[in-house]
Amino acid sequence: MLGFFERLVNPYVDYQETDTPPTKLWPFMREYARPFAKVFWVTAIVSVIVAAVEVGLIWYMGRVVDLLTGLSPEEIRANYVTEFILVALFVLFLRPLIQVVDVALLNQTILPNFGTLIRWRAHKHVLRQSIGWFENDFAGRIANRIMQTPPAAGEAAFQVFDAMTFAVAYLVGAAVLLMGSDPRLVLPLIAWFGLYVLLVRWTMKRVGPASKAASDARSTVTGRVVDSYTNIHSVKLFAHDDTEIKWAGEAIEKTRKTFQAEMRIFTKMDVMLVTLNGFLIVGVVGWGIWLWMLGSASVGVVAAASALCLRLNAMTGWIMWALSSFFRNLGVISEGMETIAQPVTLVDAPDAKSLDFREGKIEMQGVVHRYGRDTGGIDGVDLRVEPGQKIGLVGRSGAGKTTLVKLLLRFYDIEGGTILVDDQDISRVTQNSLRRQIGMVQQDSSLLHRSVRENLLYGRPDATEEEMIAAAKQAEAHDFILDLEDPEGRRGYDAEVGERGVKLSGGQRQRVALARVILKDAPILLLDEATSALDSEVEAAIQDTLYDMMEGKTVLAIAHRLSTIAKMDRIIVLDQGLIVEDGNHAELLAKGGIYAGFWARQSGGFIGGDEVNEHG
Ligand code: ATP
Repeated sequence: MLGFFERLVNPYVDYQETDTPPTKLWPFMREYARPFAKVFWVTAIVSVIVAAVEVGLIWYMGRVVDLLTGLSPEEIRANYVTEFILVALFVLFLRPLIQVVDVALLNQTILPNFGTLIRWRAHKHVLRQSIGWFENDFAGRIANRIMQTPPAAGEAAFQVFDAMTFAVAYLVGAAVLLMGSDPRLVLPLIAWFGLYVLLVRWTMKRVGPASKAASDARSTVTGRVVDSYTNIHSVKLFAHDDTEIKWAGEAIEKTRKTFQAEMRIFTKMDVMLVTLNGFLIVGVVGWGIWLWMLGSASVGVVAAASALCLRLNAMTGWIMWALSSFFRNLGVISEGMETIAQPVTLVDAPDAKSLDFREGKIEMQGVVHRYGRDTGGIDGVDLRVEPGQKIGLVGRSGAGKTTLVKLLLRFYDIEGGTILVDDQDISRVTQNSLRRQIGMVQQDSSLLHRSVRENLLYGRPDATEEEMIAAAKQAEAHDFILDLEDPEGRRGYDAEVGERGVKLSGGQRQRVALARVILKDAPILLLDEATSALDSEVEAAIQDTLYDMMEGKTVLAIAHRLSTIAKMDRIIVLDQGLIVEDGNHAELLAKGGIYAGFWARQSGGFIGGDEVNEHG
């Protein structure tokens, strides 16, 4: 039975993904609520019926009082027993049934599914954001928003039906009831209602911004705390526990302050509400007794009016609470929207086709990318790489080497110029088709917190076990992988590697990353310090693998250790975002420029001197 309600809406239903989700609250909610439209309507109707039943019962109590005071027991026995039994049956069986439907719709259909739908879609949307977008935020904060926005939206929807629809229906019912008994009794109710609306407005105006601020502060705490945890090595190394505690402490204190400011509103509201309700009780009941003394209202009317007021008294607190948590949730949603409703800016062009890869020619024409600043980054690079050509990229730290290869992957949209692969502008082809043709081994390859096998198959999910092992062997990773064991006792390729691969040594991590790229076997290869974390013995072995891997591919290899690229077809020297030297090893040595200087200062294949940074 409950399963039926749980399956009424599929939170994973297909939908039209958009790069620019609505950025205003209501359109945003409407968009996400679309699959729930029918359920929302039915729930609203059922809530109204529930409210009508409640008011009806109170009205009926009034009728019972009138009957009991006006008639003798014999008359009651003779004429009203059947009616009483019917009402009893209704209360015993039909009323619970209606309530069950109402509660099941709210608890089983709306609350879990609405939140799930938002979380699922929000995560999909966020994953589509560019690398640059992620670089500008805390991972922890993003995760927090993905976690706290959906339940807030689910609860907001819940409150609309559970409290608001019910309350409005109840109030209308109460007014109708009092009107039917004695129209004069409605007057205090109307006066009270007017004041109540003012109080609601007063509260709501303040709750939204206050809870947005509180929610914002909570996300910042998560961002800071997660930042400390993920950088725990630096924290410990520099003995900065206290600094970290202070940094998180400031955010925690801000959370407390914003939370207190938010709760002040509720406390003040409570005081005003209790006072207001006092007027309602005295107004309606006192007024009812007065009318009874004048002989123009029956005891039943006074009893029903009193019951209504007491119920309203209890209900108003609950409604106000529901309303304020509704607006509070809207505040949380608004805050979350700063992350989950941001447009995806780095997108495929509307008419983007798959890259038609032919031979792997790369051309860069006047490429500029300064990360939105006035200087730095890449400052106007013209480069033509012939198909199958192997290029070594050299330059001081910060010269723009990594930026250049990232631009080829379209991790960022360039600020000026054009990049072509096989004569196709990379901004006009789909990102996935471009990246499928490129394999990259990074300087600091972080692995996914999954098994070695899953990490390797990331390179090519449909690879066979044999292919995967062959790749691992080529990358000199097979032997150490067989020796791995994680705390859960999983061994070898099934062992998990820890967050970002922390349970492996730097060199092991790099070899797994390399095996993954070998498995991918893409025709363009980008190596960013691909062997920097390896000891010289493993490096020598891997270097041969790398040369094998490069066979028939277009290659761009960044290296500080010049011996690894000296044999390349061509070496490009970047300086301050510009190509300053271009030629093969011998030509550049003969030129006696920056490269020759680097080479001269090499000791054991390293660029030495103070011009290069420590990770050299
Ligand atoms: P290294 O040899 O140290 O890896 P590099 O030559 O690869 O250096 P890049 O990483 O390309 O240099 O950096 C070039 C410039 O761009 C630097 O001034 C750096 O501060 C800046 N930069 C790099 N990444 C970003 C980023 N995500 N946002 C803003 N600026 C960046």
